[in-house]
This record gives sequence, C-alpha cells and structure tokens, in this order.
Amino acid sequence: MKFSMDCELTMSKKLEGINIELLLNKSFDLLNKGAPPGAGASIKKSRVSGDKVFLTIESGRFVRPHDAVFRLKNFLSQHLGKEHHIGVKEINASHYEIEFELDKEPLKDFSLTFQTIPLLKEHMRSMDFKEKTCHMHMINLSEEFLKNNYVDRMISLIIDKINAQHYEGKAEHWELMWASPEKKNAWNKDPTVEMEKANWIMHRGRGQWIFGPMATRILKTFESIVMEELVTPAGFSEMVFPKAETWDIWKKSGHAKSIYGEIYYLCQPKTRDKEYWEDVIDTYKITGEVPLHLIKDKIKEPIGGITYAQCPAFWPFLDGRTIADESLPLKVFDRSGTSMRYESGGIHGIERVDEFHRIELVWSGYPEQVREVRKKIVDCYKHIFNDILDLEWRMAWVTPWFMAQEGLVGVKDESEKRDIGTIDFESYLPYRGTRKESEWLEFQNASNNGDKYTKGFNVKSQKGTELWSGCTGIGMERWLATFTAQKGLDMEKWPKEFLKRFGEIPTEIKFL
Ligand code: ATP
Ligand code: ZN
Ligand code: MG
Repeated sequence: MKFSMDCELTMSKKLEGINIELLLNKSFDLLNKGAPPGAGASIKKSRVSGDKVFLTIESGRFVRPHDAVFRLKNFLSQHLGKEHHIGVKEINASHYEIEFELDKEPLKDFSLTFQTIPLLKEHMRSMDFKEKTCHMHMINLSEEFLKNNYVDRMISLIIDKINAQHYEGKAEHWELMWASPEKKNAWNKDPTVEMEKANWIMHRGRGQWIFGPMATRILKTFESIVMEELVTPAGFSEMVFPKAETWDIWKKSGHAKSIYGEIYYLCQPKTRDKEYWEDVIDTYKITGEVPLHLIKDKIKEPIGGITYAQCPAFWPFLDGRTIADESLPLKVFDRSGTSMRYESGGIHGIERVDEFHRIELVWSGYPEQVREVRKKIVDCYKHIFNDILDLEWRMAWVTPWFMAQEGLVGVKDESEKRDIGTIDFESYLPYRGTRKESEWLEFQNASNNGDKYTKGFNVKSQKGTELWSGCTGIGMERWLATFTAQKGLDMEKWPKEFLKRFGEIPTEIKFL
C-alpha cells in the first residue's frame, strides 16, 4: 500500500516568525506511534505561506495520511496554542494518491460507476486497475471526508466489490443435512390456482392476498401448532415488535448494506396541516383520482420501511444494555403483524408474496446456550413436520444472510460443527416437477447469528464474555403453500394429527 497526500492546514493566524520546520521535525514519534519501527507516516515536503501550512504526507499501510494529518493538527495546536494562541482552523487535501494491492484481479472494471457516486463524483480524478493493483487519485477532500475515514471504507468497498465479482454466478453454498422419506402426495396441482378457484384466497395485486375463512383456519391451525409444539415447550415469551423499521435499526442489523431494492418505504407527510393538503383533497373530489404527483412533493424522505426481516425491530430493546445471567438464554417471539418485501411485481403464488405473515422467534445467550436452543427448536420442527403435518421436507446448511449480503457464498465449516450460520427448511412441491429436478421451497429457516446482532446493538453479558443470538422465521404462507401442494384441498386426505387440531369447518362465503 502506498499513500501520498498533499494537504493544507489553515491556521487561525499568519505564522510570522515561527519556525514550523523545526516543530514538524519533532513529530517523528507521533507519526510512527502504533506502527512497526519506522513504518509510519512521514512528511515529505512542507511549506508555509501566510496562514497556511502546505504538507506532503506519505505512508505505507500504517498511519495513513488521512490519520496522520489529524495527529499533526493536535500536535500543532498544542505547541502553537500555548505560546502564540494559534490553532488549526481547517484541513483540506488537494491531492490524494492511493495505491493498494488486491487479492484478486477485478473481472470487470467498475471504476466508472464508482466515479458517478454523488459523494465521490467531484473528488475522483481517476481510478485504474493494473492486474492486482488499484490506483486512485482523489482531489479536494474536505476535513470531514478525511476525518470520517471514507478513504479506508472506499478501499474495503473496492475489495468487497471485486470479491463479489468472483462469487457472482457461483451457486450459493448448499449442503443437505437431513431429509424426510418420500411421501405419497395427494395431487400435483398448483394449490394457489386451486384455492383461488375454491374462493379460499383472493389475489389483490402486488403480491397481496386476502385469505378467506377456510385458508385462514389452516393458517391459524399452523399457528396453534407452533404455539403448542414449539413456543410453549421451548419456553419462548410473546412480545410485540414494531413493524416500522427505521434506518438506525437497519444500520445496526446490517440490512442497510443491501436491501434497498426490496424495501416498502415509509414516508411521513411534511405536515398534518389540513390547508397544506387542500389542493390534494379538492383535486380528488373533482377528478375522483388520487393526485399522486401532488402527494409526492408533500411527503418527507423515507424514515425506513416496513418490516423486512422481523427480528431487527426487537433489538433496540437490548441496545446498549447488559443482560442479567438469570435472563439467559433469552427467548422471545413475535406474531404481531406482517412483513413486506418488494418481490418485483409479477404474480406469484402464495409462496412468494409481497406482504406475508411470519412468526419470528429470537433467542440470545452465551454461545453454548444459543447452540442448545437451536437444537431444541430443530427437534420441535422435526416433530411438527414429521408427526403432525406429515410433510416431505429437508434441511440444508446454506450461506447465512449476513454473508450473502456481502457477496459471499461459501460457508466454510470444516469443523463440521455447523455452528454460526443458517439452516433452510425446504419442502417438495409436486406441481413444480420431479423431486430431483424441481426447485424446492424454503418455507422457513433457523439461524445462529453468532455475535452479528449483539455486536451491532452493543449488547453485553453479565460475565462480560461473548454473547450470541439466533432467530427462526416461520413463514405462514409458505407453510400453507407446502401443505396444500402436498396434501391437496380435500380434507379427507389431510393428516389425522392436523385434522385433530383443525376444529370445525368455518362457514364459507357464498357468491351468486
Ligand atoms: P427466498 O430465497 O425464497 O426469497 P429468503 O432467503 O429471501 O427466501 P429469508 O430472508 O431467509 O428468505 O426470510 C425468512 C423466511 O421468511 C423465509 O424462510 C420465508 O418463510 C419467509 N419469507 C421471506 N420472503 C418471503 C416472501 N416473499 N413471501 C413469503 N414468505 C417469505
Ligand atoms: Zn431474524
Ligand atoms: Mg428473498
């Protein structure tokens, strides 16, 4: 790595009669602090003119110029402050040349797109890749740009983007862990189509469905099975998680790194004032159309979006706190509302919807406790799917979401412990084709998230040792899709254990 920065320090007064060179010569130790001997930053050139000190600072990997310059700022302020009452007012870097080595050669050049990022547009003079070397030339960087470590983050981003290029197209990691025996299926029809015909469900566009009494009874039976066979025996307490997830949450959970194309955004009005909305109201009254073009300018920027994953909105409850040992492992769940994802138009069956219902269980504790809870949960699931719903399903060890969003696909788990990471639960959908060739449906998952959330939300344990967490999202629409695809709509063919819990057939709504 090679860094070279030309910068100017604007002082609060002219530096007449002060020997800056002499002072800067004393900064050697300061610019090498924290680096192997002699490997820190160095001042290659210096010049004073009026109230400005011009410096050229160079470094290798350690004490990069954008860090060194702030050390110098403090140093100069200290030495000039006492005696001469002079401080450093502002820092600006006119040129910053950066060269660093990459692990892998980029497969395609993205320097142009990089230069169109608004934040970088005015500052990127050039960016080139030569084999495994990246060279960047930036200009006119403000003190804020340097101070906020944008430079280091840009380097990480470039490395991430190149890694992602190499992963692109490679299949996600997928490793079979367990599979049920083959089951005899009731039919091989698409249950969404059949349920629509039977008036059990109705599509409202945008991947949203109305579930009629019969479909709802099935969903509610699933829910009661989850309560009786999983939530209660595993000792989870019910909570109500908010369904508006603000940016602060997604920044801490990591979702802010990737989900923009899938968010249902949430915006507040600019004001509640009735007069402000009068033109909208009047236009609607005259035209009978809601004037979206007017509304667009009357709402604020989004505060976040509707629940995407479900557990992030819980974590502010623990944010910055230390959990007492007696509360560990902490086990809570939420079933208080829908999640929404923009699955990009197209009419899908009920297995891929924009608005879905999910029961989300979250647990946290010391690593051993987190492993134990997941094990218990997997056992409960096995009992539910094998003994009650009689499903054909399997479990696979897959790339966890927090790796996938960084463009990674592999889960190296040479230890065979399958510890931190995600288990996907997949079901066979006979209408999609053969067991071997068709795509199975991920109907839920269970993750051990390691310290991903506890770190992100700064949650501590009483012992002060590592705290982990896990979560499992039970997708109700996907259970329904699975169950009806395998068992059909004819109750006679439904498993006895399920029927036992189903109760009376609800009254249907008849149409003329
Ligand atoms: P897929 O790959 O099928 O899109 P995903 O990896 O996006 O699924 P996760 O982010 O792991 O899904 O979400 C956890 C659970 O939430 C899923 O197992 C599923 O039960 C449910 N889920 C996610 N997206 C949808 C959707 N669009 N419709 C219905 N359920 C969903
Ligand atoms: Zn979760
Ligand atoms: Mg998805």
